[in-house]
Amino acid sequence: MALCSEYLGCSPKHLAPYAQDGRLLYQQCADCGIIWRDPQSFDLEQPYDQQYFDSKNYQHNRAHKITKSTWLLDLALSHHPRIQRLLEVGCSVGNTLEAAQQKGIPHLGIDVSEFAVDYCTKRGLEATTQSLPDLIAQSQRFDLIFMQHVLEHFVDPFQVLQQCNQLLNNQGLVLILIPNSQYKRARKLRERHKFYSIQGVGIEHYAYFNYQNLERVLNATGYTVIQNNYPLSTLNHDSPSFIINRLGRRLLSLLGLDQELVVLSQKRN
Ligand SMILES: [Zn+2]
Repeated sequence: MALCSEYLGCSPKHLAPYAQDGRLLYQQCADCGIIWRDPQSFDLEQPYDQQYFDSKNYQHNRAHKITKSTWLLDLALSHHPRIQRLLEVGCSVGNTLEAAQQKGIPHLGIDVSEFAVDYCTKRGLEATTQSLPDLIAQSQRFDLIFMQHVLEHFVDPFQVLQQCNQLLNNQGLVLILIPNSQYKRARKLRERHKFYSIQGVGIEHYAYFNYQNLERVLNATGYTVIQNNYPLSTLNHDSPSFIINRLGRRLLSLLGLDQELVVLSQKRN
């Protein structure tokens, strides 16, 4: 049974095969549209070691990635000017942590990879291999939780979002970047696209969302969406490069060519 039956009330009978690459099967729920990896293929896994990070080239183009994180932090700050502390779940090699540090925002990154955490701490960034339940047990609190291409790596995204909710102060924000299930090429190619293939990222991910069903997931876990996609205009913190980037992303989105969803949501009190 897919998790949306439990959390969104979808019928367990409405799951249909969507993409299959050997033993790797993805099924779509006709009620909510979420595309779930079938639990029978959960044993197909990849370790998050140095080789993983090298293969992803995560250290490539670091300066641009820090700039992108800075834009996203500015977007969050425009909705919540008093962000005192940031948590990044799945901090990887620390691009967002570095952006936060440059802005003078105290931060903590968590990652399952010791390689990633070592990489961050050697650069003077705060990072740990502790889990969300560990932080909850320590009564840690944050004003912004950043999840950049991370939520799709968890078997139960609902549980992760509930745990994040427990770690947020009142009015706290969650910023999610995640693959877009509506991306035209992936919809057309199915298991021949990296989203759903064993050679691609199909064995790293557990679910694919669109803007509509991700909003339902967020509503069910205690959040209100305040911004889908990049905004056309922002009140402050704007730069010409961000304006061009934002308008470009909105155009890609209109054409179904946007590989990534960007969603900012706020804890509901
Ligand atoms: Zn469903």
